[in-house]
Amino acid sequence: MTSSGPPITFDPIAISDVPRRLGDLKASGGPLVVRSPASGEVIGQVTASTAADVVGVVRGLRQSQTTWESDGLEARIGHVLRLRDWLLANAHTLTKLVQDETGKPWQEASIEVPLSCDFINYYCRNAKSFLAGSHPRPHSLLTASKRLSIVHRPYPVVGVISAWNFPFVLPLMDCLPALLAGASVVVKPSEVTPLALGEVVRAWTQEIKAPPVFACAQGAGEVGAAVVDHVDYVQFTGSTRSGRAVAIRAAERLIPCSLELGGKDAAIVLADADLDRAVNGVMWGAFANAGQVCLSIERVYVEAPIYEAFVDKLAERVRSLRVGPDDQRYQADVGALATQAQMEIVRRQVDEAVAQGARAVTGGHPVGAGTFFEPTVLVDVDQSMACMREETFGPTLPVMKVRDVDEAVTLANDSPYGLSATVWTTSRKRAEEVAHRLEVGAVNVNDAFSNFLCFPLPHAGWKSSGIGSRMGGAQGILKYCRPQVMTTPRLSLRRELTWYPYSARVGRPLLAAMRLLASRGPRAPRP
Ligand code: NAD
Repeated sequence: MTSSGPPITFDPIAISDVPRRLGDLKASGGPLVVRSPASGEVIGQVTASTAADVVGVVRGLRQSQTTWESDGLEARIGHVLRLRDWLLANAHTLTKLVQDETGKPWQEASIEVPLSCDFINYYCRNAKSFLAGSHPRPHSLLTASKRLSIVHRPYPVVGVISAWNFPFVLPLMDCLPALLAGASVVVKPSEVTPLALGEVVRAWTQEIKAPPVFACAQGAGEVGAAVVDHVDYVQFTGSTRSGRAVAIRAAERLIPCSLELGGKDAAIVLADADLDRAVNGVMWGAFANAGQVCLSIERVYVEAPIYEAFVDKLAERVRSLRVGPDDQRYQADVGALATQAQMEIVRRQVDEAVAQGARAVTGGHPVGAGTFFEPTVLVDVDQSMACMREETFGPTLPVMKVRDVDEAVTLANDSPYGLSATVWTTSRKRAEEVAHRLEVGAVNVNDAFSNFLCFPLPHAGWKSSGIGSRMGGAQGILKYCRPQVMTTPRLSLRRELTWYPYSARVGRPLLAAMRLLASRGPRAPRP
């Protein structure tokens, strides 16, 4: 290892093993007890960080970052690939932790580790070309004597604040590109699901012996706020309400932030849709992860000619979904809601809708001992109901009949959110026309969530669903960098024409040359 930065004086364990060590720190916060939402049982505990802990963690990360950056990309890729190997070797244990802290079915929990590894491979394969500097050509004769360079230098410390719905893969999708870019990272998992990610951060230094540039701060919103107070860049995933608070604080500090927030994604089912695929796809898009996916389908607009057939088939298939706790034998399709508060939101929206005239053709109630709610299909809803306007983040699906595609598009756009939408049709041309009219960051045609699995695509919400974007090819890693430009004279003159002393002898021909060059610009098209 070569070292061009200041010596590393920070104890790596103090920043990489926060869940285990915070109890030893004098100023640490209280215990954070983690319960399984499926059973209510205590499954673990971490110690919450205090604001003072966060200050120390960020200071250490800042010191370690200079060497991390100067060691170069190849070295960073080596550490990240070793982490991938460790994740694969420990996939079962990590999946069990994810399942315990979320209450997901085994199949859904199992996806998080391999998806993270696929993501690592994508960025390790492409980071070199994504981060490569460039030498653009000077644009005019006046600057022709310069050599131009652009290099991408990381923000020293990136703060990643994350949600509980995919507690493993989502924060890693934010942390790993930042680490590869050469930044240090402090991640704050959701207070609801701190265990699996805490284990990965512990492994970074303790198992794979990587440098102390990846740390974990544990706790609730106030710890997230402390992270925002000290880092150089914030990558936030969570509700629009919290995201707004983060954006305000980031603006006060004049640091950039990228916000991945809530949604109320619409499905538009056109009369020419393949009915079976539409029903199966909309059902999965609505109930996977118990509806707790940022891209979950939360409302459906169906063209009148196929409305009855769509609802009948949907209700019949939804009734066959198995709800409840799962072991590792694939015994459930729909798992628990992550928190009791989430359960209350779902219950309130369903009860209010029914009181206002909606009908649950299937589901409508909590079920079982944990925070389980029956997969619910609501009909006779209208656009004014909370279940059609507010984010639900639960296993409910209100379905509304529309006259035609124009009404569907108008209603889909009638939302403060703009994360994504799905369009179900057998005509690619119609799908593209509808997509162009939708005010959302992503449109999946005849599928749900698929944009999220395509790492070259940016994941970006419009309107109140976010600012900036997560992942997405080159910009998914360049977002953690600041462009640094350099100009170098190609000729060694005693002075440039624009320098002192000013004189008519040099100034007039210079101005004339500039005017001549300016007049040779592109021509406006004739009206
Ligand atoms: P939340 O806003 O309550 O919490 C998210 C994270 O922010 C947590 O770690 C929390 O501790 C922290 N936090 C809360 N207040 C904060 C503050 N003032 N400053 C800094 N950090 C703060 O959200 P949640 O309930 O954990 O997650 C569910 C929400 O996340 C839903 O709205 C969902 O749509 C959204 N989400 C969006 C995406 C996306 O990519 N757009 C992905 C997953 C989840």
